Amino acid sequence: MLGLMMDRPLLISSILEHAARNHGGARIVSARPDGSLVRHTWPEVAARAARLAHALAARGVKPGDRIATLAWNEHRHLEVYYGVSSMGAVLHTVNPRLFPGQIAFILKDAADTHLFVDPTLMPGAQALADQLPDSLKTIVVMGTEAEIPADCPLRGRFEVVAQESLIEGQPETYDWPALDERAASSLCYTSGTTGDPKGVLYSHRSTVIHAMAVLQKDVFSIGAEDVVMPVVPMFHVNAWGIPYAAAMAGASLVLPGPRLDPASLHRLFEAERITFSAGVPTIWTALLQWLRADPSRRFANPPRLVVGGTTLPTAINAGFKKEYGVEIRHAWGMTELSPLGTANSRLPQNADWDEDRFLDYARKQGRALYGIELRVRDGEGREIPHDGVAFGELEVRGPWVAKQYFNRPDDPAFTGDGWFRTGDVVTVDALGCIEIVDRAKDVIKSGGEWISSITLENLILGHPDVQLAAVIGLHHSKWDERPLLLVVPKPGTSPTAGDILGFYEGKVAKWWIPDQVEFVESLPLTATGKLWKAELKQQYKDRSAG
Ligand code: ADP
Repeated sequence: MLGLMMDRPLLISSILEHAARNHGGARIVSARPDGSLVRHTWPEVAARAARLAHALAARGVKPGDRIATLAWNEHRHLEVYYGVSSMGAVLHTVNPRLFPGQIAFILKDAADTHLFVDPTLMPGAQALADQLPDSLKTIVVMGTEAEIPADCPLRGRFEVVAQESLIEGQPETYDWPALDERAASSLCYTSGTTGDPKGVLYSHRSTVIHAMAVLQKDVFSIGAEDVVMPVVPMFHVNAWGIPYAAAMAGASLVLPGPRLDPASLHRLFEAERITFSAGVPTIWTALLQWLRADPSRRFANPPRLVVGGTTLPTAINAGFKKEYGVEIRHAWGMTELSPLGTANSRLPQNADWDEDRFLDYARKQGRALYGIELRVRDGEGREIPHDGVAFGELEVRGPWVAKQYFNRPDDPAFTGDGWFRTGDVVTVDALGCIEIVDRAKDVIKSGGEWISSITLENLILGHPDVQLAAVIGLHHSKWDERPLLLVVPKPGTSPTAGDILGFYEGKVAKWWIPDQVEFVESLPLTATGKLWKAELKQQYKDRSAG
């Protein structure tokens, strides 16, 4: 027997309509490249999104067409987010920090028809001119006509038009189509740290359910009184769903634009009274260092922060909490998960832990959100015990997890029995909290046992002379692989190999300690600021450890 409830579809247009109808009092603040601010409301965002959808429909954009963006977190990008998906087309956000060849690959793979480009990113788009795919017809410069570069070389091959001209005179309401909630809404590519980027095609349903999930108290805990600033870019996994979640909650939204330096962010935190923000550890590390440089730099109202994307050093978390009263919640996710999968919030079982104990525990990536199921299996396919020690590869399933990549139907990341293999190697403790110990491809296999490269990296970052570190496996004739430690020393220090390797004594099993350390000036990073292990391994592929 079926339930007798209405089948109203879960659509992105319904989020926008809700915010516009019920939350006219919230602010949408957007920082321009010069630091000045533009202010809108949800009804204004809705009206501008509707105007954009009319303009695109008039140009023949149809449901399912891909519309790409190369843009920062700012209001015109938000309007494209809502206008494009709500009309049934697919918003394809592209990371401008990727290498030009990767951007060209992605645009071709997606077969985008329109490319929206922030004026500050036009030089990059122009440099790509020869590599842009034939599917592309129009470049929309996200500003006014005056912001289109003079003699724009793209003009010969494409129509080049300003977003403001495009929407001029268009109606402010749009009769959003009653789409199938499973229809594609947006497309985002993985960073391609392991090969060509792969497209993840989100649906309206997955996006709406994910947004509801992240609003929860134990995840982002966002309500109508919040002022939310996504520092995490809208070009990377939909800014962790915040543009949708904020509208759903009716919260105010502050979009920081291209300037993400600590001084600019702090100014926004204070001037806009931001209560919640989310970003990767590098952003918060830089902010903490900047705050500490001058004792007058404080938060009038300490915000709540969520951090994810890569491991969170406990020292950063502790610094924010003890010195500035700022709570950081650690979360884990992936492009394939829309992106949120776990968050580390308290349980009755650890509610009474003291601050230091919880700060240490907060290095773990957290427990599954409702909707996400976790399965962790070892090399032999057996589920591991939840003892916080055994580790294996994490697999997930749930209504906002990809079931297949775009244009790649047979990727081995998807198991025959309906799970997605994350490639992350984790432990699970008795509270169900996961801790990432490595990525499956980076774990060092020494004599049949696994050594976590991430554990070795995190430990050595606690050495006072170490600025950055990476551990990779080198081929070894007897042990298969042995760890090599690469260290960028802090400026003005010159630690010895003995100092560095000695630091591991007593902290890890003896056989985990790297045999060699090499001092380097820099380490390669990916477009999303993570250590680029694949590139490092390539550099050291001919080196053997013995
Ligand atoms: P890519 O896989 O291309 O790097 P993603 O942004 O989807 O792009 O990255 C997902 C990966 O980032 C995860 O599989 C995990 O390895 C890492 N990651 C995400 N959040 C965390 C976290 N909180 N701690 C450690 N690693 C994380």
